[in-house]
Amino acid sequence: MNEIATVTQAQETGTARPRPRPRAGVLDIAAYVPGKSKGSHGKTVHKLSSNETPLGTSAAARAAIEDVARHLELYPDGSASELRSAIGDVYGLNPERIICGAGSDEVLSLLAYGYLGPGDEAIYCEHGFLVYDIAIRAAGATPVVAPETGLTTDVDAILARVTDKTKMVFIANPNNPTGTYLPFEEVRRLHEGLPADVLLVLDAAYGEYVRRNDYESGIELAATADNVFMTRTFSKIYGLASLRLGWGFGPAHVIDALNRIRGPFNVSSVAIAAGIAAVRDREFVALSVDHNDKWLPWLTSELEKLGLRVTPSVGNFVLIHFPEEDGKRAVDADAYLLERGCVLRLVGNYGLPNALRMSVGSEDANRTVVAHLKDFLG
Ligand SMILES: *Cc1c(COP(=O)(O)O)cnc(C)c1O
Repeated sequence: MNEIATVTQAQETGTARPRPRPRAGVLDIAAYVPGKSKGSHGKTVHKLSSNETPLGTSAAARAAIEDVARHLELYPDGSASELRSAIGDVYGLNPERIICGAGSDEVLSLLAYGYLGPGDEAIYCEHGFLVYDIAIRAAGATPVVAPETGLTTDVDAILARVTDKTKMVFIANPNNPTGTYLPFEEVRRLHEGLPADVLLVLDAAYGEYVRRNDYESGIELAATADNVFMTRTFSKIYGLASLRLGWGFGPAHVIDALNRIRGPFNVSSVAIAAGIAAVRDREFVALSVDHNDKWLPWLTSELEKLGLRVTPSVGNFVLIHFPEEDGKRAVDADAYLLERGCVLRLVGNYGLPNALRMSVGSEDANRTVVAHLKDFLG
């Protein structure tokens, strides 16, 4: 059937010769657009476009990589067991219920491939992380977008969109690019409102940064419920974005399913070694949290003093809203900053056409961007 279908399709579309075609839906996916890494004229003074840490990487993690680099001819431990044990130790989790991936993006994709297919629906939020949309569509399922209230996940809006076809709900908590979060009571209410066969995925990529008494990253629910799964990353507070390392924690039956479909060596030896050292370096994490605790409020108030509106953030980034008047729009601010080597992130593809997202940077980066924006607003 396939050959004939391909030929017919080619004839219908006027293509001269048959060629392989992706399955239905693949070409409807908008490829992920990463943050720019260079300013205008190829010059970058401060890269603040991807929520990376300004503190680099733990020295212990860098040292661990040097050791592994002497044996790149060997396959990694396919089960990443030492890394899972280290994560388990530090976070107080059973390593048997942890899976590692090439970034948490891979874990999110594995969840979609394992649990979604054509005819299924998966819900994510209006300004939610776009990787969910890609993962859902790539699995052949249909994304359903729940509106937010005040740029924050709206539990009732999600619950109102659950149908017989719903198989999964993705929540980033805190969310990127808004920086807002859902208190634990609300996450619990969402979980209680979902049918038992719907998997609730809690993406806590920024969980380590949050300093709120009513926040819980998802460990508690993922440890006790049969349908809750938490994802985490080494890309943000641990400063290992380039190595592609993330992990997930959830019920044993979900881990079992994901292990059956993941690549046998999906995490490299270099990433494993760096991850073990990084997760054990609590001093580095504490310094990163302190840095953020100091500069997140500073940035927020300095930007507000310029007359800009900033969405209250609990992550390591801020969402800056621009006034509508001529020449003071987010795209113009972005161009102005790029010209000066400061790379922020336009978030029009997140439904926020007049906002810029900025990572909390070094002291120099934060002061420089505020000074440039002051000049820009004139
Ligand atoms: C940065 C980020 C991640 C991390 O992705 P990795 O693949 O682990 O680098 C996951 N979720 C959200 C919401 C993020 O912003």
